[in-house]
Amino acid sequence: MSAIILENYVSGKWAKGQSDLVDIPSAVTGKTVAQTSSSGTDFKAMADYARDVGGPALRAMTIHERAYMVKALGLALNERKDELYALNAHTGATRRDGWVDIEGGSMTLFSTSSKARRELPDDYVIIDGPPEQISRNGTWMGQHIYTSMQGLALHIGAYNFPVWGMLEKLGSSLIGGMPSIVKPATSTSYLCEHAVRIMIESGVLPEGALQLIVGRTGDLFDHLGCQDVVSFTGSASTATKLRTHPNIIKNSVRFVAEQDSLNASVLGPDATADSPEFTLFIKEVVNEMTVKAGQKCTAIRRAFVPEALMDEAQSALIARLETIKVGKPDAEGVRMGALVSQSQRTDVRNKVKQLSKEAKIVFGNPDKVDVVEANDNDGAFLSPILLRCDTPWEAPSIHSVEAFGPVSTLMPYQNMADAIRLCNEGLGSLVMSIFTYDPNVAREIVLGSACFHGRIAMINRDNAKESTGHGSPLPVLVHGGPGRAGGGEEMGGARGIKHYMQRTAIQGTPELITGATKVWMKGALRTTDGAHPFRFNFDDLEIGKTLLTKGRIITLEDIEHFAEFTGDNFYAHMDEEAAKANPFFPGRVAHGYLLISFAAGLFVDAAPGPVLANTGLENLRFLTPVSPGDSIRVQLTAKTKKKRNDEYGEVKWDVELLNQNDELVATYDLLTMNAIENRDA
Ligand code: NAP
Repeated sequence: MSAIILENYVSGKWAKGQSDLVDIPSAVTGKTVAQTSSSGTDFKAMADYARDVGGPALRAMTIHERAYMVKALGLALNERKDELYALNAHTGATRRDGWVDIEGGSMTLFSTSSKARRELPDDYVIIDGPPEQISRNGTWMGQHIYTSMQGLALHIGAYNFPVWGMLEKLGSSLIGGMPSIVKPATSTSYLCEHAVRIMIESGVLPEGALQLIVGRTGDLFDHLGCQDVVSFTGSASTATKLRTHPNIIKNSVRFVAEQDSLNASVLGPDATADSPEFTLFIKEVVNEMTVKAGQKCTAIRRAFVPEALMDEAQSALIARLETIKVGKPDAEGVRMGALVSQSQRTDVRNKVKQLSKEAKIVFGNPDKVDVVEANDNDGAFLSPILLRCDTPWEAPSIHSVEAFGPVSTLMPYQNMADAIRLCNEGLGSLVMSIFTYDPNVAREIVLGSACFHGRIAMINRDNAKESTGHGSPLPVLVHGGPGRAGGGEEMGGARGIKHYMQRTAIQGTPELITGATKVWMKGALRTTDGAHPFRFNFDDLEIGKTLLTKGRIITLEDIEHFAEFTGDNFYAHMDEEAAKANPFFPGRVAHGYLLISFAAGLFVDAAPGPVLANTGLENLRFLTPVSPGDSIRVQLTAKTKKKRNDEYGEVKWDVELLNQNDELVATYDLLTMNAIENRDA
């Protein structure tokens, strides 16, 4: 196969670099797979194009429209995934490794898209938390909101996941409304370039929403401004260099970094050599050492076991490592492919040398490995290397040097406090795991270690089958970690999208805040004229549309009937003396559930119509007890609307129950599904 000349996608056109082509070798054969260069690219024009063309186009779409667009990108990539798998083999990755990168990437887009459509409004503004009532009469209130940033998102990726690494950032930035420029690591950029090509060719994206640099970023950093976001994955040294660029500092450019991580895994103190947790731990350490040839930011670099189990753990790890065949990624029986390049292998060998000053290699030879259907000299193959260090408190390198390959160190701990301190000695990591069956150990580890780690996986015999394991970042959970890991956060469901939006506290009257957010705020105008609110189909129902019901007196017979009917004979409803002795009640009071049932009887409009179903209540609070003889009435106001599909959408209603003195008895949000088309009887 002749080398592919990679192209940049700049200002809506594919363009080859004009000079300084860099050869990219195959990790397996060492032969040039692709050539790349970004020389001649006008980076300022690229930034302008993103901001002036891509940004307005994306911001003209609602969050849901952008989320559907991201889903369509995932479908387009899945349709042509075989083209991506063909390129994947050159990166040294096995098909299984490639699955995480390629199909795992599309799944991340699907998941982020789905979370956005379920949890965020079909609008341009996201409400963050409840409103803050600041003034006595309610005319001055505050509300936190998110809106899209008006700059560009620059995504700089590491070489190990050229597709997933791009998509985990891109899904969030596009749904957040930001045009994005992707800059993959050169050594696997051919795979990322092809994925970008598929996305562009799908025709799903508006002009300017996505651009690509395969090569250096030139003077792009000089053109970044206060509305831009840089999301970086790679080494701590590159992160430091980029985040201290004068322009990044001067303009307070948001910089999200995912960098090195000395992830730990602990075999709990409750485990014994024949407990299921011991076996699971051994499997996971070997798995994390060998998947993607250990080139995973989340791989287990430090494995801790109770001191008494050191020898058993070492023997079990070695026995398993001996079964791992290294070689051509698609050859029969091969479990581990190559590192991405010869230079990366040299780097790992040097790091192993450094680690071996404090630890002993107990499995593997860094300079030699038997390979299947490949040549050790041409490809970047490396044996898995297990080190053992019996004095972890005298081994600073083990807690600070990341050998980004199939390398892990086994170490003992004395007790839980010691294990916790040792895990934290990595000074901030993406993930740690503990293999335990003891909930008290779970509590200790979380209290002692959670603040040092972005994620903690607690694995045991009950969840092992379904567990996604130590090293898999999931789109619904936060990926990132403090300190050495970069201090950044990505994904985490809808959270990840908000990294590309600005949080603002807006203040004003309820009416103004309702106008700005399209979410009805208590105190804003209620429209009470015209038909019952349940007679409006989804599109015609306006926020603020209100029903004020007549009152209904609650009798002692109602309470007793409800108690008998439901079996709820709680003393506060049935025993005058006991109820009086309770500081909350003046005597027997109505059941809260009786009140909300009567409320429904007061506000529903019985005939078939656009309201298809009541799907729940949220934020229910009972505030004033209701005694026999009191009356209740209801104020029901359309608060928010969220389209679900072409047939129906969710309406959230603000419901207030008031007594004869206009005191608030209960309040909640009622959820209904309303038809888009008019279904009036
Ligand atoms: P790297 O050398 O730091 O490169 C990372 C990215 O930065 C690449 O795209 C690289 O492009 C780019 N880059 C380097 N210098 C640049 C500059 N002056 N201006 C703009 N971009 C620049 O890291 P790597 O070798 O690709 O990846 C290995 C490292 O990444 C390991 O240390 C690992 O811990 C870390 N990593 C962390 C995570 C995480 O989520 N925390 C995930 C994966 C990897 P070029 O390739 O063109 O130089």
